Amino acid sequence: MNTAPRGDLSEYLGKTKHTEDHSAYQRHPLRRDTSLFGIAVRLVRTRESFLILLLLIISAPTVRAAEPIEFRNGFWINLHHYLYAQALAETKTAGPRLLSTANSAIQHAPCTIPGSERVVWTSAVEFYATHYISKDWLFDDEMRQLNDALGQMGDATGKTLRSASALPEDLREVLIGAAAVYRHACWPAHHGANAAWIGAEKARLAKHGATLVRRLEQVYLAKWPEHLIADVVTYANWAGAYTYGTHITIDSVNSDYQEDSALEMIFHESSHALDTTLFEEFADEFKLQRAPWPRQFDHALIFYTAGILTKQELARTNPSYVPYGDRLGIFQRLQGWSEDEAAFDRAWKPYLEGKKTRKEAIQDVVKMICCKE
Ligand SMILES: [Zn+2]
Repeated sequence: MNTAPRGDLSEYLGKTKHTEDHSAYQRHPLRRDTSLFGIAVRLVRTRESFLILLLLIISAPTVRAAEPIEFRNGFWINLHHYLYAQALAETKTAGPRLLSTANSAIQHAPCTIPGSERVVWTSAVEFYATHYISKDWLFDDEMRQLNDALGQMGDATGKTLRSASALPEDLREVLIGAAAVYRHACWPAHHGANAAWIGAEKARLAKHGATLVRRLEQVYLAKWPEHLIADVVTYANWAGAYTYGTHITIDSVNSDYQEDSALEMIFHESSHALDTTLFEEFADEFKLQRAPWPRQFDHALIFYTAGILTKQELARTNPSYVPYGDRLGIFQRLQGWSEDEAAFDRAWKPYLEGKKTRKEAIQDVVKMICCKE
């Protein structure tokens, strides 16, 4: 969930579509499903298998990347986020939402620091309190750069981290010191929690991922990113997840991000990463009606769309599924969102169900919001 304090679309797009240099990411080759080739090669050795081979080729599914999202369970990015959560939990000045989410993460991913190592650990937490907890994971340039660099570090050794020039020297030293404690006191449990979450969500993606990818591509008129990364951590941020560019960071122990809700929120976060014209299509219609862009309208649309598409996809396996936004009352809590939701129910949902054209849906949603009679 990305919540941008903003007044207009251009400002928001400026923040979410910032052009980070992702060329430093190791591009992983497009992995294609070659299993049919293997079978074919074996079969073609006999003449009578020719027909079977032909049938296999004809019925071969459209090739696409084997997995739409690469999940990572990295040591350094987890340590970085956990130290931030620890520092945040100890501050007296943070807002209630920040405090409760940090405390909840620590409660769900506890770790006991041995007495002999508390000095090193405490000084690392204090470093984070001084340098980072006043900065937002999503909207602060430095926090995004650190997140990218530490995500790429994976499980690298302290020696490798020490030479990582993308990280400030004082931070490198603090992390290396804290790592010696974190690696044995916390990491086995944190790594296990992340791995269990990733395993469960990968199983859901294997079942529902292809359809949801295709539906999001249709609705957003966007091609799925070639390399979408999700770093899985025990504490992401106050919201439970955030996304910029094609980099998602998401909680594994947050009770709101489990089972089918996690599936929805993976695709909610992915929606933030799509290069779409959908918001411009709505913006044009608001302009035509001489109406202002409603506060956080694009985010309301992402919330609603991911919720409905996930519910549609789960119709057979979990018919009573309640989308994340409805379950947590998001549309009632945020200013103007209940009006957005009412318009989406009447005009956007029929488009998602194939009962209305895109153009009609956009026109009707905008009219319902801006120009009620
Ligand atoms: Zn969001």
